[in-house]
Amino acid sequence: PAAEAALRDAVLGPPGPAQRRAVAKTITLLESTRADHRLRADALLDALLPHAGRSLRLGISGVPGVGKSTFIEALGLYLCGLGHRVAVLAVDPSSTVSGGSILGDKTRMEQLSVHPQAYIRPSPSSGTLGGVAEKTRESLLVCEAAGHDIVLVETVGVGQSETAVAGMCDLFCLLQLPNAGDDLQAIKKGVMELADLVVINKADLDEAAATRARAHITSALRLIGLHGRARAPDRGDEDTTATPPLDALWQPQVLQLSALKGAGLTDFWSVVRRFQQTQRANGQLAARRQQQDLAWMWERIDAGLKQRFRAQAAVRDALPDHARAVREGRMAASVAARRLLDLYG
Ligand code: GDP
Repeated sequence: PAAEAALRDAVLGPPGPAQRRAVAKTITLLESTRADHRLRADALLDALLPHAGRSLRLGISGVPGVGKSTFIEALGLYLCGLGHRVAVLAVDPSSTVSGGSILGDKTRMEQLSVHPQAYIRPSPSSGTLGGVAEKTRESLLVCEAAGHDIVLVETVGVGQSETAVAGMCDLFCLLQLPNAGDDLQAIKKGVMELADLVVINKADLDEAAATRARAHITSALRLIGLHGRARAPDRGDEDTTATPPLDALWQPQVLQLSALKGAGLTDFWSVVRRFQQTQRANGQLAARRQQQDLAWMWERIDAGLKQRFRAQAAVRDALPDHARAVREGRMAASVAARRLLDLYG
């Protein structure tokens, strides 16, 4: 308890090397798989939570090579220049396969990583997407408690990780290449629907193409808007505050930018500020975060229950026979599920 109190005080203390070490140590603790570490990390999260929540949480996604790290480096330095304290986190489920994390890698953000107002943490590299996202969410709270007022959460544009990141951010920004095809992929995968803001990067390469892409994506977003944008699933069992849908107040914007040349950052930031004002003025921010937190709680309960169910001795013993019976058509799937659930108790 004394060690935890010291760690908590250092995280909440003045910015500097001691705080930086304490933040790193806290995140390492909550990434640990040891049960005693988990208990200590949970106690720390309880203590830090009242000091968290005061940042702008900005999600950034895009396919490999679109320029995410170049953009984050440029944006991060720009924001530090404005006096902000920036944290960069990442959700990279592929790191669980490759063993190393590509995203949030300090060598990719050379200047930002040594900036005294910035803190960069690579993606946790263990567990499922849900597990990785859980650590990143918790790290976000730690960074906020330490006074970082802007948290950038990076994810690569493959798979389900965009949904996870959109589910922990106030604003989700999708980076696109200035060519046709990239936007079609994003639309098909349902990622475009998550975007509050689309940035066409590398606009310096081909301005005409970037302009075409912008028109294309703008009309795609309008169509998506007509059909209602993707939202976290409504669990139906929770009290959600009635607020007007953000869609009525905010039409997703499309911007052109060159991360390499640092061109368009001021425009980008003013759009983000406008989004933030809209979100705050209408109670949207609190509503979105509430909904995200409850959806996340249920996500983790579902995942935890499934894990406990499979690990329980009676279920583990009966599972192969039941699965075989279902496979061979001797037992209805629903009947097998009921019997296994009854075994679980
Ligand atoms: P990531 O994989 O999404 O993180 O992409 P990187 O930031 O590593 O960028 C991939 C490549 O694109 C690098 O060679 C960058 O220098 C280059 N790049 C990034 N942004 C721009 C840009 O705005 N214009 C041009 N011309 N190149 C860029």
